[in-house]
Parts: sequence; structure tokens; C-alpha cells
Amino acid sequence: MKTISIKLFTAIVMLLLFTGGSYLFYKFFDDSKEVTERLLEENIQVNILNIKYFLDKNLQKNSINQLKAYLDNIVNSNTVINDIHIIDNQRKLLYATDRDTLLEHEGVHCSAISKIISSDIFEQQCYTFSIKLFDGLKPYYYSSIVYLDKDYLDSLLKDKIIKYLGLFISYTIIFILLLWFTIRKFIIAPLEELRQFAYYSEKTPRQFLIQELESIRYSLELTFRRLKKEQEELFNLSTKDPLSGLYNRLSLIEKINWLISRSQRSHAKFALLFLDLDNFKNINDSRGHEFGDKVLQHISKVLLSSVRDNDIVSRIGGDEFVIVLPDITDNKSILEVIKRIQHSLSMPVVFDNYKYHITCSIGITIYPKDGKNVTELLKNADIAMYKSKELGKNNFHFFTETLNDEIQEKMNIQRLMINALEEGNFKLFYQPKVDIQTNQIVACEALIRLIDPIHGLISPDKFIHIAEENNFIIPLGNWIIEEAAKQLKLWENTPLQDIKLSINVSGVQFKNKNLFKIIENAIKNIDPSKLDIELTESVLMSDFDAKLKVIHQFKTLGLSLSLDDFGTGYSSLSYLKQIPFDTLKIDKSFIDDLENKQDQSFVNMIVTIADELGLEVVAEGVENREQLEYLKKMKCEQYQGYYCSKPLPVQEFETLFRVHNSIITEI
Ligand code: C2E
Ligand code: CA
Ligand code: CA
Repeated sequence: MKTISIKLFTAIVMLLLFTGGSYLFYKFFDDSKEVTERLLEENIQVNILNIKYFLDKNLQKNSINQLKAYLDNIVNSNTVINDIHIIDNQRKLLYATDRDTLLEHEGVHCSAISKIISSDIFEQQCYTFSIKLFDGLKPYYYSSIVYLDKDYLDSLLKDKIIKYLGLFISYTIIFILLLWFTIRKFIIAPLEELRQFAYYSEKTPRQFLIQELESIRYSLELTFRRLKKEQEELFNLSTKDPLSGLYNRLSLIEKINWLISRSQRSHAKFALLFLDLDNFKNINDSRGHEFGDKVLQHISKVLLSSVRDNDIVSRIGGDEFVIVLPDITDNKSILEVIKRIQHSLSMPVVFDNYKYHITCSIGITIYPKDGKNVTELLKNADIAMYKSKELGKNNFHFFTETLNDEIQEKMNIQRLMINALEEGNFKLFYQPKVDIQTNQIVACEALIRLIDPIHGLISPDKFIHIAEENNFIIPLGNWIIEEAAKQLKLWENTPLQDIKLSINVSGVQFKNKNLFKIIENAIKNIDPSKLDIELTESVLMSDFDAKLKVIHQFKTLGLSLSLDDFGTGYSSLSYLKQIPFDTLKIDKSFIDDLENKQDQSFVNMIVTIADELGLEVVAEGVENREQLEYLKKMKCEQYQGYYCSKPLPVQEFETLFRVHNSIITEI
């Protein structure tokens, strides 16, 4: 349906009112004109009849002159009658009150007086009547013409019309103006205010007089108030982290973008601090998520209280926080904030009767030096944060380009590793372990290699620690276990059937609850005593009891265990007592300096202790005959090292084995 505006509607109503009013006015005017006419007619009629009566009575032949004064007086005193003519029966003018019109009666058609009642006086110019005279007894007739003052009559009517019209127009204008003003003030203006209010919802209009409009205004006001509240809630939900009340990632990005554009103009610097709580996962795992949430809320408060009002504090992930410090001039102010945070965190907190000490690692980037946009700034701060974790937690680190290169390299290696496992580019190399007394290869250690089609052979020193950091060592370790077991299976019923194969298992692999199952599965079809597991002391550093349990389980499978790199860690003798090791591997660093008396006595001592504990000893990294001589003297059982061979691909190792073991030489 087509709609019309209130203005148009009002205009139409006014037009209708105006038309109706005009019609009524016309009717009224017409009626009053008629009344006026009638009154005039009666007046004229009386006047003319009086004239006729008087003339009938007094007019004698040749006495016109005596009546001149009377006739002139009538014409002069009567505003309607303009002129009176007396004409004889030959139509000869005997007398005219106005000499100027003397001849005018010729050709003028006048109504007979008998028609005075029925005629429209405003249409008539003159009336005529006959006057009967007697010449003795003989009657004869004169005529009299009474001319009306047309101009006067017209002006009478005109005046009336003008008066009425004037009145009508002024009344109508006043009425329309009043109506317009009232509608405008009480309806149109409030409606417009309502429209603006509904559209912009800015200024709430004051109360209206019209009840219906007022109830709409009130409803709108209530709706907007509710909407505003909901909008605020939604805004908070979308910009704030509900747990901590800090800004979320989205609003952090927005704020940093704003700071970047501001800094581009003012050339101001700002710092971005990426904080990650140390060992928060442990708290969450051991005390539950609700408890973890309380800790996070506490940290949020600490962070807020450690910064200035215009600094930005946000939580962008589980235990990751970002603080932005605008308008930084030097590193001093950044360090002060870090100091305040670390100081506040150093106070132990008590939750549910448990005392906690929470620390965090912080990575710092500075705009524009360390990143041109949010992504770069956050990524680089994250890199710096990881570095500070590496440095031993509860630490901070500024981002540098070398750090970036380090991380890029790491990421490249991560990519290579993932591809290599999918595409079969990992290979196990085998390094012989030689019995020092018989010079026979009796065992070997499987050492992983990544043979990349582009980068060539990549040694484990380059990637094992990365695989341990990101847990890639778990799938990779599983592959190594299965591959080693397969190899042992292949060597069954070959000259290498008695060979013992060691694999290295890192600490991270121990965290995997499936490790035992995977090993159990892998050795199903082989002689388990042929498989040896090399562990370093660092593996046992944390969760000692749990790991000891797993180690005992390994033993139940019939595997043997070697303590790798012995002498480099804590080398606690208590480990040796508690853990059912079969072999001790003396670290290469002691073999390197065997001519050194101190190292000689150390190796000697290890061999003696091992002998006491019934453990075998393998010396690692033997590169020359002298070293081997020493070891032989010390009654060390086995050696491993370049002196015999580097780690080799399986076929080369098999060849070496055959060649080496068939030649029994004196060393
Ligand atoms: P590791 O277990 O101590 O392995 C011995 C390392 O010493 C090997 O280095 C070996 O090539 C090297 N080596 C042996 N004899 C000599 C020698 O006479 N002179 C010199 N200069 N080096 C010698 P590689 O293969 O580079 O492995 C380095 C480390 O990477 C290993 O130390 C081990 O910790 C780790 N790794 C290697 N393969 C694996 C694996 O399959 N799993 C796990 N978890 N770690 C592995
Ligand atoms: Ca090893
Ligand atoms: Ca070793």
C-alpha cells in the first residue's frame, strides 16, 4: 500500500476543510446577498411607489416645474435613485433631475414597476411607470423613469464581497495556521523526534503531550536502554576474555593496529611483552581446571597492577598473556614493568590451602624494529618467549634477528622431519660395538639419520632436540623401535644373528603412555634379549618413580638397559643401585682425554664400580689405538667409535661385520 506523509495528509485535510469552508462561505454569502437585495428592493420599491403615489397625486399638466424641487430632493436624498425622468405620451422628455442624462432614456429598456418585486434589482438599470393626468375629464398619460444608481448598487455588493472575502481569508489563514502549528507542534515534531530517536538512538526526547506518542516514546526509550545494555554485554563478550576480564586476542589485535597507525605518524615506539606461565599445564593437570582458572585470574590481577593505566593487558590463550606498553623511549621502562611483574609473582599465593609459586617466561618485541605488523610482532615475541623458556624459565628475552634465524632453521627442520617420516627419508645407521678382548663386533647402536633429497644427510644433533621439544620424537621414536625390531628379525639366521642392537629412547618418549605397548608389540617376533635400550641420566631427572616403573616393565619383557653418556650428568651412584641397568656407556669426553691421568682414573673407577655391580662397560667415541690400549688395560669390555667404524647404513654395516669378524687380529 502506498503511504503518505503526515504533512501531505494534513495538507489534504486542510484543503478539504478549505473547500468545505469556501462552499459554506459561498452559501452564506449568497444568502446574505439575497437578504441585502431584498431589503434594497423593498426600500427601492417603497421609494418608487412613493414617488409614483406622489406624482399621481400632485402632477398636473404644466405643473412639472412645481415638482422639480421635490423630484430633485428625492434624487439627492436617495442614494439608490440616480435620476428621475418624466416623459409625455409622445416620449418627449419633460423633465430630468440630472440634465447630463437627458437624452439617455432613448433606447434604454426599463422594467415596468409592476415587475419590481420579481426582478433582480442588481440587473436593472431603471424602472418605469405611467402617471395618469386629466385634462378636464379627459385622461392622458405621462411616464416616469426612475434610474437607479448602478455604481452605488454595485459598490454596495462589492464592498460586502470584499468584506466577507477579507474575513473569510483571514479566518481561514488564521485557522489553517493554528491547525498547522498545533499539528506540527504536537504531532509532526514529536514524530520527527521519534523518528530521529529510532534511527540514531542518541538523544532521548522529552515527554510528549499526546498519549499515544508518549507511550511509543517511552517504549522506544526502554527498548534502547535494553539494547544498549545488551550491546555492552555483547561488546564485552567479543572484546574481553570472560575468565580474566582482560582484552581478548581480537581486541588486542585491534588495539595494536591502532597503535601502529598512531606510531607511524608520531614515530613513537611501543613494546609488546609475550608472557607464558611456566609449568601451568602441571597445575591444571594436577589440581583441575577450576583451580587453574583461579590461578589465571590471580595472574591477570597481578599483570594489571604492574602496568600503567594506558598499557594494554590481554589474555590471548590458555596461559598466554600479552602486554603492550605504548610510547617506550628506552628498554629501562620495559625492564621496570618486568621487574614489577616478577616481583609480584614471586609472592607465593595460597589457593585451597595450597601454596603456589608461579613464574612466567617473557618474550619482548619492539615496534617498529622487531615487526611491521601485529602478526610479526606477536610471532617474534613468541619466539623470544620460547628462548627465555629455553634459558630456564622465570626469564625474559628480547627478540633479535639471530634468534629469528635460529627459529627459522628450527621450523625448516620441523618441516623436513614431518615430510621425512611420511616419505621414508629417515634411515637407521648402525655403529658397531666391539668386544675389546676378542675384537669381534658383538653389538651395535642404531643411530637415526635424515636423508633429505635436497639437503642430503642430516645428523641427529640437528633435529633430535627439536623433535623432543615438539613431541615429534614420539612418532619418530615409534618408527625407530619398529625399524630396529624389523632389522633384528632380518638378521635372524644370518651371521649377524647374535648381534645385540641398542636403540636410544629419549625422555619425552617416556611421557607417552603407549611406549610400553609399542615396544611389547615390536618385539613380539624377535628375541627380546637382542634389544637394548639406551637411556641418558636426564631421562630420569623428573618423575623418577613413574619412570622406574616403566623401566621395570621393560625388564619383564626381557630387554636389556644401558645408561648412556655416563659421567656427563649427575652420575649418581644411587641411580645405578635402583635402576636395573645392564650396561654403562662411558661418555666420549672421558675417552677423548684418556692420556690425562684424571680421566684415566675416572674411567678406571667406573670400570671397577661396574664390575662390582655386575654391569658391562662400553667406552664411547674411541678414535685411536692408544685409547683402545688404555681401555684394554683397564679391562673395559667393549668399545664403540670411529676407530672401528662410523655409524653405517645397514648393508655397509653387514659387510663390515662379515669382514671384521672373519679377521681375528691382535690389537
Ligand atoms: P649418542 O647416543 O651418545 O650417540 C653416539 C654419538 O657419538 C653418535 O652421534 C655417534 O655417531 C657419535 N660417535 C660414535 N663414535 C664416535 C667417535 O669415535 N668420534 C666422534 N666424534 N663421534 C662418535 P650421532 O649419530 O650424531 O648421534 C648423536 C646423538 O643423537 C646421540 O648420541 C643420541 O643422543 C641422539 N640420537 C641418535 N640417534 C637417535 C635415536 O635413534 N633416538 C634418539 N632418541 N636419539 C638419537
Ligand atoms: Ca646412545
Ligand atoms: Ca652416548
